Amino acid sequence: MINYHFHDEHSSDGARPLVEHCEAARRAGILEICVTNHVEALREDGSWVVDFEEAVRRFERVLESVVRARSRFPELTIRFGAEFAYRPEWTDPLDRLAESLPFDFILGSLHDVDGIDVSGPNASEFFRDRPLEAAYGRYFEALHELVEWGTFDAVAHFDLVKRYGHRAYGEFAPSSLEAPIRSVLAGMGRAGIGIEVNTSGCAQWPRAPYPDESILTWAREEGVPFLTLGSDSHAPEHFTQGITDGSAHASRAGWDRLTIFEARRPIGTIPLQPNETQPGGDR
Ligand SMILES: [Zn+2]
Ligand SMILES: [Zn+2]
Repeated sequence: MINYHFHDEHSSDGARPLVEHCEAARRAGILEICVTNHVEALREDGSWVVDFEEAVRRFERVLESVVRARSRFPELTIRFGAEFAYRPEWTDPLDRLAESLPFDFILGSLHDVDGIDVSGPNASEFFRDRPLEAAYGRYFEALHELVEWGTFDAVAHFDLVKRYGHRAYGEFAPSSLEAPIRSVLAGMGRAGIGIEVNTSGCAQWPRAPYPDESILTWAREEGVPFLTLGSDSHAPEHFTQGITDGSAHASRAGWDRLTIFEARRPIGTIPLQPNETQPGGDR
């Protein structure tokens, strides 16, 4: 099994040194991990900023910690990654960051839409006084903008908007927005961008991995080229949250493999079900 989405002490919202997350991986029998810290940093006034110089310095320290952890955990494959959150004004510094450091894998994510963090405490502002089709429709439109930008390898937590949206509208049925969702997925297929199963939803609402099983099925049908899996944990004690459920969820949607990365290129796959025998060539 792998975990290609977690945050450590070098992420604004993460905790504890990388080696403690590696320990958690080793205890759980996970063989390959990728640390994907946020680039944006919290200012004293509570706003978020992507400062290219600060980010380069901080991610150089992450890379140093990855190199040290590799020698301490030789049995574990440790990749150097990041989570690039999309805002139109951040694409330039993020493009430069991607060019400046030897990342193995980059997640693209959408937290802010029209200045509101749809995954944060003020998310209700985004849903106020408009129907689900308008609010979620705008979210998927912004997700399309993220994909058109494209400086990343896989889309993280594709339907994160439902995390707080359910308080306004109840449980999300993707069929009500199938056409715009398929359009985003088809764009990912054309751009060679993959999709992530994100298991952070298992421990809180929606009590299931992101995205919905039907979206994972449509992703295959629309030509999304690969799947990754991550717990999106922010502390070592949550490192394995939902990972087993996440693989079963993806299997039900017809996926059978997870893709692994080096230097931002897919270099192989591993089976979603650990007992499955592997054909030659892949690892
Ligand atoms: Zn995220
Ligand atoms: Zn994350």
